[in-house]
Amino acid sequence: MMEQIALITGASRGIGRAVSIKLAAEGYHVLMNYRSNQQEAEAALKEIEQAGGSGELLCFDVGSAAEVERVLGGWLQAHPERPIDVLVNNAGITKDNLMVFMPVEDWASVLNTNLNSFFFVTRMLLQTMLLRRQGRIINMVSLSGQKGQSGQVNYAATKGGVIAATKSLAMEVGKKNVRVNAVAPGFIKTEMTEHFDEAGMKRMVPLNRFGRPEEVAEVVAFLASEKSSYITGEVISVNGGLYS
Ligand code: NAP
Repeated sequence: MMEQIALITGASRGIGRAVSIKLAAEGYHVLMNYRSNQQEAEAALKEIEQAGGSGELLCFDVGSAAEVERVLGGWLQAHPERPIDVLVNNAGITKDNLMVFMPVEDWASVLNTNLNSFFFVTRMLLQTMLLRRQGRIINMVSLSGQKGQSGQVNYAATKGGVIAATKSLAMEVGKKNVRVNAVAPGFIKTEMTEHFDEAGMKRMVPLNRFGRPEEVAEVVAFLASEKSSYITGEVISVNGGLYS
């Protein structure tokens, strides 16, 4: 069988990096997107190659339709014989603030990076997945998009939006054997949460700790695999029991 290909956005650090390492270990050729941190992206790819895996880096801003078109579209055009089997829409940012103080730029940039990106990147791959009758799309959402979070009106709106889009797209494309699911992490130890008071906040978590990116990657790998062949339109929480 031909080597399968997975595109992971936001793959240079945190959860996306762990997902790339996991999928590469499972035999996927991984296309690792990042926006600016080339050093970390190169280090992640090196780690994969040293473990015997294969991948390549794709630098573009997921929130820019023009960059997605130019870089991802360019890769697709240059590799017509190498369709992408798995898409992990993982890149995301926070710009936390109480809404009353939130600048319009912070509303717009979070919407662009976390929500518009879902549309820009997914649309590029969808037609081929439908024609091949094969594809898995996994969207990284958040506990904040499920229950809401004070100080995160912008971020929660994007993640809630992607949850609704996940369910809707799953209904559109299920007949063509394309599955669409979401993973909703709680508190995971990455740069995104490094300023959090972990010692205090972990007491809210039934498992009494923050999660590791690798624990999220396991669920993504499951959703990418045939083991989840009858699951679509689903949101799987990885939050230590914080919310269900
Ligand atoms: P992180 O450590 O801050 O890493 C973010 C990644 O996204 C980096 O690889 C970054 O690339 C990339 N990125 C950011 N903006 C981008 C853009 N415009 N275009 C392309 N790539 C971009 O974040 P994380 O904690 O791993 O979070 C990953 C996903 O999980 C996000 O969607 C986040 O909302 C979600 N999540 C995280 C947690 C948590 O507790 N950590 C909880 C719930 C949900 P550069 O290195 O180039 O900047």
